Amino acid sequence: MAQVLLVEDDAKIRTTLVRALGELGHAVASANTAMSGLKQAVEERPDVVVLDLGLPDLDGGEVLRMLRAVSRVPVIVATARDDEREIVRVLDAGADDYVVKPFGAAQLDARIRAVFRRARQEEAGDPALVVGGLRVEPRTRVASLDGVPLDLSPKEFDLLHYLAQRPGEVISKRELLTEVWRTVYGSADKTVDVHLSWLRRKLGETAQDPRYVRTVRGVGVKLVDPAP
Ligand code: CA
Repeated sequence: MAQVLLVEDDAKIRTTLVRALGELGHAVASANTAMSGLKQAVEERPDVVVLDLGLPDLDGGEVLRMLRAVSRVPVIVATARDDEREIVRVLDAGADDYVVKPFGAAQLDARIRAVFRRARQEEAGDPALVVGGLRVEPRTRVASLDGVPLDLSPKEFDLLHYLAQRPGEVISKRELLTEVWRTVYGSADKTVDVHLSWLRRKLGETAQDPRYVRTVRGVGVKLVDPAP
């Protein structure tokens, strides 16, 4: 049972979901524009926000950024487009998960419960992960290298955090796409490679002269202590 804020401009979808989620035991509030959704998210402090990307007043990615600037509430986006680029974009902008329209209340309920499980694990105070001079703190989502905080995007942090949980182990790009981006669609090579290259740049290294992030050709990538 959760306090759910549903931001959706389609009255029919809104009514159906409010009722169905209510029957599943959730307390559901709703908004029909991005601006009223943002206001309610701040004032009513829901446990989770379900955000339609196609709202009349603001672009979905913009809404996410505005919401992230003021709140860490878990956000599940609802998109009408089963499009990898769009999904990667919203996950990068700080969404926790997504559903593709049309979706049923049961699926949304399962996503809500999964988001809560992950939030609880984070709150349980995952200890900081240390690999050489790298320190990754899941609770505060801060990573540092040799004591200097790294300016990482949410997805770069997630990627580094995932790799740091299994230092020295080669992890496939397909697994990273599935676990970090939570999508099975599209090219793992392209999506993961781009973020790996950004991450490397922030760690002050390159693919040609790697230190922490090592690519194992044809297999995947691993995070290592460069000076064990
Ligand atoms: Ca819509």
